[in-house]
Amino acid sequence: MEKFQQIVEFIRDLYKTPKDFIPLHAPVFMGNEKKYLEECIDSTFVSSVGKFVDRFEEMVAEYTGAKKAIVTVNGTNALHLALLSVGVTPDSEVITQPLTFIATANAIAYTGAKPVFVDVDLDTMGMSPIALLSWLEQNVKMVDNQPINQSTNQLISACVPMHTFGHPCRIDEIAAICKEYNIPLVEDAAESLGSFYKGRHTGNFGKIGVLSFNGNKTITTGGGGMLLTNDEELGKHLKHITTQAKIPHPWEYAHDFIGYNYRMPNLNAALGVAQMEKIDEILTSKRKIALAYTEFFNKNQSPNHSITQSLNHPIIQHITEPSNSISNYWLNAILLPNRKERDEFLKFTNENGVMTRPIWKLMNKLEMFNPDRNAGAQCGDLSNSEWLEDRVVNVPSSYLKI
Ligand SMILES: *Cc1c(COP(=O)(O)O)cnc(C)c1O
Repeated sequence: MEKFQQIVEFIRDLYKTPKDFIPLHAPVFMGNEKKYLEECIDSTFVSSVGKFVDRFEEMVAEYTGAKKAIVTVNGTNALHLALLSVGVTPDSEVITQPLTFIATANAIAYTGAKPVFVDVDLDTMGMSPIALLSWLEQNVKMVDNQPINQSTNQLISACVPMHTFGHPCRIDEIAAICKEYNIPLVEDAAESLGSFYKGRHTGNFGKIGVLSFNGNKTITTGGGGMLLTNDEELGKHLKHITTQAKIPHPWEYAHDFIGYNYRMPNLNAALGVAQMEKIDEILTSKRKIALAYTEFFNKNQSPNHSITQSLNHPIIQHITEPSNSISNYWLNAILLPNRKERDEFLKFTNENGVMTRPIWKLMNKLEMFNPDRNAGAQCGDLSNSEWLEDRVVNVPSSYLKI
């Protein structure tokens, strides 16, 4: 317990909070949030049309480099729409990773498609291009240039990798494999606003990328999401179906598609604009926090161990950004030596007022997505995901004025 006590003291020092509860990730409002909310209320444009909606979309498009950005009520429904728009249908299969937040798998389920879980890489915690390719080679044949799963006879209609805790996965290799197999790529970049891979913002490598502005994410609109695309036509279509597919007309109600009411209200977008104005400051702070964690764990536990080296070493280490990447360090993650120590660490920290959380339970172990209970779900070899599931814990990562 002594080394856990040391960690608790380090976190309390870092956050200059000697006694009070320290949350995992609190939102920070230090700019024009109140001013813009007031403007919004004074204008009466509080709902889904308004200048903040347009401005927020423009700011995120510019920041990420995407041609089009379309706001939605939350990230989960943005993922749902992204999947529908690339052609995911009930009689098809969507490849994703088992180590993700439930929203990824739920969005696949909303379409009626069945999930296929392929393993992650140890260093990125995101989808492994090797695992993806290996599953495709073993299971998929191209029929009329369509990727068909030989054992189920169903189309692979999309691939959804996720950038875990803001650390980019090997998205360029994944994009190349998807291209070779003619599989639409939808990036779950919900956790990675401000994360870049080889100089390009995450969410920009496939057909559509999805962001989230939930209260615990890097910036927040209370609740909210965003669709990113570099295909102008697709962008127009996405905006159209988030807004009930209404054909613009001064008074008539005409709709040409089954649309959704997935629009973000102007009130939320007002928050988004104020938050985007501060994104550089927020990211700088998060990088400093991450650096402090790295230094602490290097000094106290294990100088310069890589994740793979730590496989059989009883050490605790901070997970740093993968190569070729700039991570937003949304949530800092550490590796405990094994599940038993992970559980002891979770108990100790939470009982001592420092909030920590384990990485998610693997999707394939949940009732709804368990291949043994649900005939539709399938899995590749998941050893890396299982190894990480036993060891990864998130530690406090809120913005800190440094
Ligand atoms: C936050 C998150 C989402 C979207 O969540 P919302 O709360 O609906 O905005 C999707 N995928 C992942 C991996 C997430 O972390």
